Amino acid sequence: MSLQRHSFFGIRLSSFLPSAASATLALAVSACTTAGDTEDTADLVLRGGRVVTVDAALPEAQAIAIRGDRILFVGSDSEVDAYTGRGTEVIDLAGRLAIPGFIEGHGHLMGLGQSRLQLDLMATASYQDLIDLVAEAVAGAQPGEWIVGRGWHQSKWDPAPDPSVRGFQTHDALSEVSPDNPVFLRHASGHASFANAMAMELAGVTADTPDPDGGEIIRDEAGQPTGIFVETASALVGAAYGASRDSMTTEDLQAERMRALLLAQEEAFSKGVTSFQDAGVGVQTLEMYRKAIDDGDLKLRVWAMVSASLPNLAEVLPAVREVGYGESRLTVRAIKAYSDGALGPRGAWLLDPYDDDPGNTGHNTVPLEDIEAVVRLALQHEYQVCTHAIGDRANQAVLDIYAAAFAEMPDAAEDVRFRIEHSQIVDPLDVPRFADLGVVAAMQGIHAISDGPWTPDRLGEQRTLNRAFQFRGFIDAGVTVMNGTDTPVEDVNPIPSYYGTVVGRMNNGEVLNPNQLMTRMEGLEAYTINAAYGAHEEFSKGSITPGKLADIVILSQDILEIPDDQILDTRVDVTIVGGEVVFTRQGG
Ligand SMILES: [Zn+2]
Repeated sequence: MSLQRHSFFGIRLSSFLPSAASATLALAVSACTTAGDTEDTADLVLRGGRVVTVDAALPEAQAIAIRGDRILFVGSDSEVDAYTGRGTEVIDLAGRLAIPGFIEGHGHLMGLGQSRLQLDLMATASYQDLIDLVAEAVAGAQPGEWIVGRGWHQSKWDPAPDPSVRGFQTHDALSEVSPDNPVFLRHASGHASFANAMAMELAGVTADTPDPDGGEIIRDEAGQPTGIFVETASALVGAAYGASRDSMTTEDLQAERMRALLLAQEEAFSKGVTSFQDAGVGVQTLEMYRKAIDDGDLKLRVWAMVSASLPNLAEVLPAVREVGYGESRLTVRAIKAYSDGALGPRGAWLLDPYDDDPGNTGHNTVPLEDIEAVVRLALQHEYQVCTHAIGDRANQAVLDIYAAAFAEMPDAAEDVRFRIEHSQIVDPLDVPRFADLGVVAAMQGIHAISDGPWTPDRLGEQRTLNRAFQFRGFIDAGVTVMNGTDTPVEDVNPIPSYYGTVVGRMNNGEVLNPNQLMTRMEGLEAYTINAAYGAHEEFSKGSITPGKLADIVILSQDILEIPDDQILDTRVDVTIVGGEVVFTRQGG
């Protein structure tokens, strides 16, 4: 175990100097070449912009030359001419910002893809909006085909639904536009769902169906189900939907999963994400990723944390291990572990009781002995461990487990870069322990905005200020902080999550923890070089440096310079992975 701080600049000294040297060398060679295309001629040149490299050796430049999947040269517009031949494609940055491709530090790729297969109802502003979207889906579906969706929230609607029962809409208007298709739509919270008449009929739900344990079928004055199913009652309709899927062939299911994967990739590229750290993937999904890479379909770089149950883990780890498979498209050498639940449902494991539920301190969801066993296996098999911990007690318990294992196996623990996923509520006394143990804080800036408004309800004002979302505290203590979105819980778009770390203004106009914000540059590092570091990939990713993979994003505006209130309007114009343009924004 290394006791040194794993800071950003710590990385630079060891791994960036050779790159700077190679840049100088490349420049010297190119000065001797003539007009014809040579091995110093770039395939792609970006010029005429502001290139922020996230590399201290040359922090800023105007132009980038790319050959094959690697960055060949970074420098001025006049210098890049030497790399531009007849066969070189040139992109005029026209003053725009080019940065290293965003690395999603913690998301769920198949979850993102599955959500793309469903109707996205998050943006519905009224019940009529929802009905219109379903009507559109019905028009494109075969009779009998299920229409599924997620993300509606009746209290966000204006006007409020009418008629309504207990604030929820009733199914009649929905059933009218979908007479021949069962419809099943999850609430934004995941704690309720909404079904039409045909779905209820297939599920066998009538006025006589009793409420299941832990759930409720909402009924109108006449006792008829209104289409709203709360908590466990959702499973009544869910089972009918599941049964319809049971009759699908294996080929159909595989084809659907592949479609979901490629939709997730499309979404990631459109948001400037070039690498994706996938937080908990099973063995079969890994096989599908490999196939998609072999077929040339998966170009997004995936760094997967394997999830497997403990009895199988010793067998699984050596079998699935993979580093840089398919031209650096897939790496598997990390394990996803869990220690507690989430703050919203008061499942995060706290040192002191919830402010709005005295007597409840949340809970430890996986026995600590099991986490200890996973950690030992990881050290034996040269895997990282990435443990989900939200509450301060969970974070402390995980640090204790890591520390004990590192002390037990010091050689295996050298530079292992174990992580804590979320690191959301942490005792300030535990913050320096992250640095001492070399533990990476894999946080999500967007949660400071989305969960922020109700965090003080759970924790109280003082505990929120002292312990929640300590971006600044971690950085000042020398901890590597990385960013991500936990998509599909949140949009995979890095811009709002970056905004969450550097501005943090919530929808209610307030900033949850103004003392904990990052600088703009630190915010960019959290999404690039730090995320690469958290995956042992800073040698090939995370900065625009000669020799590294040519993963680059061009933004519509300069997120390092524009006023706070303009950051969220930023769009991704171009996404480049391994020198290939994989996304170009159409239209204005
Ligand atoms: Zn997650």
